[in-house]
Amino acid sequence: MWYAVVIAATFGAFIVVATGGVERYAKGVATGEMAANGATFDKILELEATQMRTSADVLAADFGFREAFAIADEPTIASALDSLRQRAGASVAIMIPLQGDIISTGTTLLPAEHDALWSAVDSGADRGVFQVGGRYYNAAAAPIMIPDLAGWLVLARPLDRAAMRQMAKLAPEGMSASIRAGGTLAGGVSLAQASGKSPVTVEIKGEPTLYWSRRLASFDQKSSPRLVLRYALGPALEQYAPIKYLLIALSGLGLLISTAIGAFVARGITRPIATLERAARAISDGSRGKVAITSSDEVGRLASSFNSMVDSITEREERITHIALHDELTGLPNRKLFGEQLEFALARRARDERIVVMYFDLDNFKAVNDTLGHPVGDELLKAVADRLRETVGGALISRQGGDEFAILVDQIKPGANLALLADQVISVFHTPFLLSDHTLETSSSIGIAVAPGDGSCPDELIKNADLALYRAKNEGRNCSCFFEQTMDLEARKRHQMEIDMREAVREGQFHLNYQPLFSLDKNRVVGFEALIRWQHPKHGLVSPADFIPLAEDTGMILPISEWVINEACQRARHWPEDVRIAVNLSPVLFKNASLPLMVMQALNAAGLSPNRLELEVTESLFIDNVERTTTMLNALRECGIRIALDDFGTGYSSLNYLRSFPFDKIKIDKSFVNDLATDQSARAIIGAITTLAGALGMETIAEGVEDCDQLEALRSQGCTNIQGYFFSRPVAIELVDALIADMRYEQQEPRAQVAAAEAARRVA
Ligand code: C2E
Ligand code: MG
Ligand code: MG
Repeated sequence: MWYAVVIAATFGAFIVVATGGVERYAKGVATGEMAANGATFDKILELEATQMRTSADVLAADFGFREAFAIADEPTIASALDSLRQRAGASVAIMIPLQGDIISTGTTLLPAEHDALWSAVDSGADRGVFQVGGRYYNAAAAPIMIPDLAGWLVLARPLDRAAMRQMAKLAPEGMSASIRAGGTLAGGVSLAQASGKSPVTVEIKGEPTLYWSRRLASFDQKSSPRLVLRYALGPALEQYAPIKYLLIALSGLGLLISTAIGAFVARGITRPIATLERAARAISDGSRGKVAITSSDEVGRLASSFNSMVDSITEREERITHIALHDELTGLPNRKLFGEQLEFALARRARDERIVVMYFDLDNFKAVNDTLGHPVGDELLKAVADRLRETVGGALISRQGGDEFAILVDQIKPGANLALLADQVISVFHTPFLLSDHTLETSSSIGIAVAPGDGSCPDELIKNADLALYRAKNEGRNCSCFFEQTMDLEARKRHQMEIDMREAVREGQFHLNYQPLFSLDKNRVVGFEALIRWQHPKHGLVSPADFIPLAEDTGMILPISEWVINEACQRARHWPEDVRIAVNLSPVLFKNASLPLMVMQALNAAGLSPNRLELEVTESLFIDNVERTTTMLNALRECGIRIALDDFGTGYSSLNYLRSFPFDKIKIDKSFVNDLATDQSARAIIGAITTLAGALGMETIAEGVEDCDQLEALRSQGCTNIQGYFFSRPVAIELVDALIADMRYEQQEPRAQVAAAEAARRVA
């Protein structure tokens, strides 16, 4: 549109300039013609005057005329004048004698005109224009010499409209002439204005008209008549009109062509740009549209660049989405995608269909990471993912994080065997995994939740499958477990207990009981084992067996243990020098590098000698990381602290542990003591343990000794340190001093000691 307007304006300006030029040119031509015609008119008047003069000269020399003049024969003179007038083609013939009356034919002169004529010829005028009766005449005068000047003969032709029209016939069309001595011309131009060096232009009835005047030779000295030429340019310009119309036509055509080209170009640019703009807006709205490439020009190249930009944005977005929704290591869908897919599956589930969520992890995966390093752990996870893909490829397999995986199977028809699905997953682990440098055997525990029964939303189903996994782990691993509502209850209870435990730490609801460690050799109490008790405000006394595992799971074991060690050391400082304090340490504490520092701080704070502290650890401590554990135990032992191996015989009982670390004491688990009376092999095992411990320079102590027979059997097998209800149950701190004092009585029979201990227990 704008281009069309600019082009139209350009053409308009061109037409204005061109027509202006044409007009100027026409005026120039007209000016030239006016000048030429003015000169021609002058010439004609001069020729006329010469002609009339010649005729008058002939009459003035005529004898008869001179005679008639001499005798003032007026009729003859008049007749001669009349015939002269006719001969010379003049309309007026006048004879002006030096003396006497003027005789004129063709006109009647007024006295003033007589005077004017007389003074003109008298002053020597022989030709020019003069005015008689308001009419202009071209006149010529010839002297009458008889022989001296006796008068003049004047011949005149009228310069009226007819004469002027006659002369104008020689001029181009549109030019006219008139004689004026002053006043205003048509169009309001004064004669003075039209008397300049160039013509003056006026508009008369919409037509440009030129006026130009030139001076005429005057017969009468007093007047100065002018020849006024008027040139109406209309007809002159008319001849240029075709050029003007041609220009206008050409401009119109040019305008049309340029508008058409503009429209074509605009269509070629604005339409694709509008399409590109729509596509760009679609991209910002999230949809991916491409534009059609219709040309190979700049617009086409722009469209093609736009399309490749859309491609790369789409590709990048897909990559980002893939990264956001997949696990980097295994390439499996991640927790987020699994949740979304589960939600989708739940939404489209038919009434009779079921959806299974299997949640599982690798048993003892941590040990792989700790012993073989994370790269091997990663390799194992990848191998597991690959095998899962091969085995249960139809289901959605996801890595939830760490060694945890989840599988979603939907559209399960009624009657399908769900346990088979779990077996399929467990079978994945039946064959060892061949990694680049290792061959690993591992197993998996699986928790299963089934929709709609076990939950109607993804979070609930996953949580319940996780609860079932927890149960599977507790049931000995390498097995699967379906979710039951009671698990949820247990979980809630655990959760509540966790909250209560935090409060217990804050509120000081824990206290310690102390169970004597009795030496048969020395026949006295040589130490006490500190055993934690929780006085729950609602549930009463809670056994450590019920809350320690949860404290280990939740990390609460750390603040609890710190309190136990400090409390035990603070109490023991008041005891005799030869009475030790034994404190149980959870394996979880050994993951914390600051454990030795914590123990040393407790000893320092209490001012207790390190060799009076005995730390009881279990074999499970060595499963995780033997190297780190032994380093830490050595650090403690180097400070003088004694280390005892608790519950020996219940775990792996690997002799290797005894070799890898020089324990100060081995505590034979009470299960062996229980079986002493009935099981001959138990007795043999205890004998073997005491012999082995003796050989390794370690002490032994038997736990859970409840009666005299057990004590005698143990003594016969070489075990001389005893802990158990036979001597005393764990007692409150207030009774410890009494026990130390009572049991130091060496002459007493053991039975008497038992009675004393029993009394103390009752008080407790
Ligand atoms: P443990 O270290 O093996 O402690 C001995 C357990 O055997 C104690 O149970 C004790 O009361 C019990 N016991 C002692 N003599 C007899 C007996 O003659 N017959 C029977 N049936 N039992 C006897 P308790 O106090 O319930 O402690 C259970 C376990 O809780 C402990 O086993 C120990 O592993 C853990 N524990 C207790 N206190 C702490 C603690 O402060 N920290 C940590 N980490 N664990 C603790
Ligand atoms: Mg113990
Ligand atoms: Mg024990």
